[in-house]
Amino acid sequence: MATANDEKMIAGLPTQHQAALRWFSENAGGECQWPGSSPAGLLASRAKGIYKPRWSKYALSVRQAVNSPYPNLEPSPRADGTWAYSYFQEGKDPHLRDSRYTNRALVACWHDRVPIGVLKQVSGRPKARYRVLGLALVTGWKKGYFLLEGFSPSGTVNHGDGTRAQDWSRTAPKHLIANITWNRHGWRNLYVDPRAGHRYARKYPGHESLNFDFSKKGIDTADEVYGHIAWTRPPAKFGPPGFIFFYSRNLDTGGGEIVGVYGNARITDRRKVPCSGFHNNVLELNVAAQKSLSMLFPVPLRASRYSNGRLVPQCGFTYIGKTLADGILRDEIHALHTAGGPRLPELQKLKNIYSLATGKNYQDDYQDDDLQQQEEIVGHLQIQKVSRQSIAEELRRLRPTDPQTVTIRAKAYKRDNKTIAQLKILRGFKCQLCQTQIRKRNGGFYAEAAHITPKSRRGLEMPDNILILCPNHHKEFDLGDRKITSRLQEKIEFYLNGRFFKVDLRLLRQ
Ligand SMILES: [Zn+2]
Repeated sequence: MATANDEKMIAGLPTQHQAALRWFSENAGGECQWPGSSPAGLLASRAKGIYKPRWSKYALSVRQAVNSPYPNLEPSPRADGTWAYSYFQEGKDPHLRDSRYTNRALVACWHDRVPIGVLKQVSGRPKARYRVLGLALVTGWKKGYFLLEGFSPSGTVNHGDGTRAQDWSRTAPKHLIANITWNRHGWRNLYVDPRAGHRYARKYPGHESLNFDFSKKGIDTADEVYGHIAWTRPPAKFGPPGFIFFYSRNLDTGGGEIVGVYGNARITDRRKVPCSGFHNNVLELNVAAQKSLSMLFPVPLRASRYSNGRLVPQCGFTYIGKTLADGILRDEIHALHTAGGPRLPELQKLKNIYSLATGKNYQDDYQDDDLQQQEEIVGHLQIQKVSRQSIAEELRRLRPTDPQTVTIRAKAYKRDNKTIAQLKILRGFKCQLCQTQIRKRNGGFYAEAAHITPKSRRGLEMPDNILILCPNHHKEFDLGDRKITSRLQEKIEFYLNGRFFKVDLRLLRQ
């Protein structure tokens, strides 16, 4: 897919199709259960090995089942990471190939060089698992077998004609931040700002005024939203299909904000639609995105978190990397958690956007804001290489009357969370009853803090009232039958459901 023709052809596929192909590219080499519920939509068919979505003339994927009635060959890997795989057509008789719509859809992929995803079942029911072989091109057909050429992990593939090509999804930048004019109504209404810099903008609403109105009559479809970005010239290297983050300078506060995202977005030809209120009563549109992956952020994010200077230059947009996109989406997910009240549909949507934009599943590494704060503080203390001695010193000086918040690297935290973070470090993230240490997938350890005298009974958030425990012992400690037999500042002894425990509460052991 190195050629301009290939890229253009892929850009012309529905965004849903492009997203699904990207899923195969990003999950290649991994294993999954039935891949039916990906945010990219349905990725394979349960009924047939070849999945041809109703909305496309092309096949989207092929799936090799363990108990397939068809002759099953193994993929053959090459030293350069590419692989060849022969996949048997639907129907046993090679002469009848084109009588099946599924086979015809694979032939269409072959002729138009549309890649497909390849799945191979590695274990049967009830716990069926599939290996994601990745993306492949159909490069031929022989005696009932479709010849597939698979992409290497670095994204190259052998075309059937002996040339090599590159997986477009590895090379094209995926993310943009684009500048849109402030709109007090969340880009759902026409809005003219009387203080706008340009006379023209003081007179007419910008075409981006309706970017987050997802049901513009005669414009938006069931799946797609159309919008406008005023750029000097459209980004040449974008997508397909990428994510567009929207930046706007809040004219009420003067601060820059990241206000929303378009997922699986593509740049379209400029389209003018009659729409009253705009200059000449014409609305101009130049981007489209998948509705289910696009949203106005319920909590706008301050742009100064991400850049010291202008986040978006004068030309109207800038490319951004995965890391920044990851950070923005995580921050928005976190902001939604913190804003309180379950906003579950929005959270779920954001997590879907996150997983497609970054190629990773969103992991809830924390249950609540307190755990998140503790984790961040642990990170700060570890980066600064604060010694156990000085942590212990600081905890000894702690008084219940100290201020309730502390500031670390310009961010305010609950003091209690700092205390707990410090204790977790001193206790080595181990349960003080069973020494269990829970290692987390993405580094670090998980531990909980239990209060000996509960906060509800005026227990203080002081080191001699906090135990670091594993989740099981935390629950047992809180809910089990507990008899404290001795409690001193440096140690506590108690029976818990009949078992005797003696726990050292000293901050440092001599
Ligand atoms: Zn334990």
